[in-house]
Amino acid sequence: MRYFAGIDIGSTAIKIAIVDENKKLSGHKISASGSMFYKYAKQALKDLLNELGIDEKDLVYTVATGYGRKLFKEADENISEITANAMGAMAAAEGKCDIRTIINIGGQDSKAISLDSEGHVVNFAMNDRCAAGTGKFLDVVAMNLEIEVDELGEYHFKSKGTPLAINSTCAVFAESEIIGLIAAGKETADIIRAVHWSVAKRIKNLMVQTAWRRPVIFTGGVARNSGMIMSISKVLDAELLIPEKSLITGALGAALYAEEKSSV
Ligand code: ADP
Repeated sequence: MRYFAGIDIGSTAIKIAIVDENKKLSGHKISASGSMFYKYAKQALKDLLNELGIDEKDLVYTVATGYGRKLFKEADENISEITANAMGAMAAAEGKCDIRTIINIGGQDSKAISLDSEGHVVNFAMNDRCAAGTGKFLDVVAMNLEIEVDELGEYHFKSKGTPLAINSTCAVFAESEIIGLIAAGKETADIIRAVHWSVAKRIKNLMVQTAWRRPVIFTGGVARNSGMIMSISKVLDAELLIPEKSLITGALGAALYAEEKSSV
């Protein structure tokens, strides 16, 4: 059997997906990026091959994507996150619906990608200059509130008080605003709901730039946050499809690209 790897080297996590020659996902691995991410990526790929019992010589083609893709010299090719996410999202949604827009929120940037009926990228918008609207901002909020990032969703649904608003459009000022709300004795759950709402409004702005259409799929690490899912869905008035493995969509897309590339 021939195998193909996709490695998504993100600012927060390294995601690896391996598909076989039938485009079937053989396995995946998620590990922390760290500062020496290109070294960790190499080791993580080796470990995944070992875990799956795949001989290195059967790994035919490796494609890197994500923020650190150009530093991963072991890859045969690297592709943009837009291409990787489009391919991965189409595969993740297969059989469920005909995806027209992808929302991807990772640690360092957020993107809205419009697709045509064949899954080709028509247009995209990206927020990569400002942290507000990214996973990093949510990480900082969780840190200030002394909770874990994976608890944000649970807290969101505990909010029963009067809705609060975060008005700053800059992550630094928004953080000061949140610290002010903590000092004013506001409930953690209410602050979190306000933060999710402010991020959702930023995402809507990106979506408007791409002339978004339904159906919409939500991918990336932040798609694991149920409070963000609810807020984006409400602000757009659209149902969101959440792939089971939302974090590895880019890696899966890169692996499928590798398979396609090797079969032409
Ligand atoms: P990158 O590709 O930049 O490494 P990811 O797509 O891995 O980014 O997303 C990272 C972000 O996802 C984190 O900053 C965090 O906010 C969020 N995240 C990751 N796991 C969870 C989780 N279990 N619950 C809520 N948020 C999460």
